[in-house]
Amino acid sequence: MKVAILGAGESGVGAALLAAREGAEVWVSDKGKIADHYKEELVKNGLPYEEGQHTWEKITQADLVIKSPGIPDKVALIQALVAKGIPVISEIEWASRYTSSPIIGITGSNGKTTTTTLLNHLLITAGMEVGMAGNVGKSFARQLVEAPKALYVLELSSFQLDGIDTFKPNLALLLNITADHLDRYDYQLENYIRSKFRISLNQASGDQFLYFQEDPNTMAFLSLVPKGVELKGISKTNIQSKTVVANGSTFDLTDTQLRGAHNALNALFAIHAAQYLEVSTAAIQAGLESFQPVPHRLESVATIAEVEYINDSKATNVDAVFYALQAMEKPIVWVVGGVDKGNDYQPLLQLVRDKVKAIVCLGVDNQKIIDAFGDFEIPIKETQDAAKAVQVSRDLSVPGDVVLLSPACASFDLFKNYLDRGDQFREAVLITVSYTHLRAHETEAD
Ligand code: ADP
Repeated sequence: MKVAILGAGESGVGAALLAAREGAEVWVSDKGKIADHYKEELVKNGLPYEEGQHTWEKITQADLVIKSPGIPDKVALIQALVAKGIPVISEIEWASRYTSSPIIGITGSNGKTTTTTLLNHLLITAGMEVGMAGNVGKSFARQLVEAPKALYVLELSSFQLDGIDTFKPNLALLLNITADHLDRYDYQLENYIRSKFRISLNQASGDQFLYFQEDPNTMAFLSLVPKGVELKGISKTNIQSKTVVANGSTFDLTDTQLRGAHNALNALFAIHAAQYLEVSTAAIQAGLESFQPVPHRLESVATIAEVEYINDSKATNVDAVFYALQAMEKPIVWVVGGVDKGNDYQPLLQLVRDKVKAIVCLGVDNQKIIDAFGDFEIPIKETQDAAKAVQVSRDLSVPGDVVLLSPACASFDLFKNYLDRGDQFREAVLITVSYTHLRAHETEAD
C-alpha cells in the first residue's frame, strides 16, 4: 500500500513511523519547512520526504493520504484527492486501526488539554498504565510504535475528528461547544458543532458519552449521538464553590491548583471518566491534589509589587476569556488581541464593565477590540510586542491588581504560536518588571 503523509509535524511523523512498521510505501510531504529533529528521524528510518512543496503527481498516486489537522479540507490538493476517490484521513483515524486498547476521547472548544492531562494524571496516580496522546505530547501513532499501552486518553480537536472514519472511543467527553475556528467551518456554527459530535460517530451500545448539560450548543444537537450509547450529563449544579459531586461521591478542590469555575467543570468530567474506569474516590482525591496545571492556562507567573501577572495565552477564543475574567477576584488590566477568528465580544461586555480597569491591546490590528470596548470609560492602549504590553500593563496597575494576558485571539500576527506568546509574556514579566522593581528599590535604598 502506498501511503502519502501531508505535514511532517508530530502527528505526521508518527503516522509515517506506523505506516512503515505496517510495511507501507511511505511518502512524507510538507509544504513548509520540516523541523530538523523530524528530518533526522525520517532519514534514520529510511522514510523519503520533501519540504517546501507538495509534488502532486506523487501524492495523487497514493492509496491513502494521512493529512495533518492543520491543513484545511478546502485546499486544492485535498479537493483533488477527494475527487479522485483517494481516502484522506487524520492521524487519529490511522492509529486507531492498529490498537484494540480502550480509548477515552476528549473534545470540546475549551478545556481539552486541561481535562486530558488531569485525567491522565488521575489514572497514573491510581497506578494504571495509560498513554496520553492526540493534541498533547507524543502522537498516538508514534506511541503505538514505540510503547503501546493498555489504555489511551486522547485529546481530540475538531480537525482531527473531521478526518475520522471508523475511529470509536469507548468513552467520549464533549466538554462544551462555543464559537471557535469558524474560519474553517464556512463561518457556520452548526458545521463546527457537527464536527465536535463526530467523536460519537461510531459509538454504539456499551459505549458512554459524557456531555455538559448546561451547554446550549451541545443540548441542541444531542440527538446526533447514536442510539444505544449511554448518555451521561455533567451539570454545574454538582459544583459548590470548592467541592464537586460525582456519582454520589464528594471531592474537595480546596487543596488543588484547579482555579476557577471552568476548572471545576473540567475536574468533574475527569472525575466521571476516572470513575468509569473504576478508580477509587480516595485515589481520585489524591490525584486532584497532586495535579500540576498545564502552563499558559491561567498560569500565575509572578506577583511583583503586589500585582499578580497571569499568563492565559491559550485563551484563544471568547469563551475561554469569559471564564478567565470570571475567575479573577481583583481589578484586571486585561491584555488582549491577536488574529481575530470571527469573534463576537458581546458575552464579555458585562464582565469587562464590572472587572476590567484597563485594556492593553497586543496585536497588529486591534480595531475590533477598540470598537467593542471603546466607549467604556477605561484606558485602552495599543502595543505590538509582549515586552511593551507588559510594561504598559505595569504602568496601568496598582498594588492589588492583576495583569491578565487572556487574548481571545490566535497569536500568528506577532508570535510563532500561543506558546511563544505566553513565553514572551512570562519572560517580560520576570525580566522587565522584576528588574525595574528591583532597581526602584535599589534607588530608594540609595
Ligand atoms: P483546549 O485544549 O481545549 O484549548 P485548554 O485546557 O488548553 O483547552 O484551555 C484553553 C483555554 O480555555 C485556557 O485559557 C483555559 O483557561 C480555558 N478553559 C479551560 N477549560 C475551560 C472550560 N471548561 N470552559 C471554558 N474555558 C476553559
